[in-house]
Amino acid sequence: MNNVYIKLMEECGELTQACAKVLRHKDEEWIGRLEEECGDVMAFIHLMTEHGIVNRDAVLKKKWQTIAKYGRYFYEENGYNTVKNRNSGEEFDGGEYVG
Ligand SMILES: [Mg+2]
Repeated sequence: MNNVYIKLMEECGELTQACAKVLRHKDEEWIGRLEEECGDVMAFIHLMTEHGIVNRDAVLKKKWQTIAKYGRYFYEENGYNTVKNRNSGEEFDGGEYVG
């Protein structure tokens, strides 16, 4: 079906699935898939702003608010746990994820 909302929902689902694969397999093999799905979601957000379905300024305002709220966790000692952290010697676990 050619419906932009359904397509965005599908891509968000694929991005969710890619995140789950990275957590489940705990290695960088799945990072490529994660990158692809991030790109797909970004593309549909771009298209939705370009065609006036959502307001670009409102989207960007919220984007920077969220970065201001959560971005700092990458720098805190007990912040985000990532595959990248694992490779730098820190223990990687999926947190509370049960998959
Ligand atoms: Mg996709």
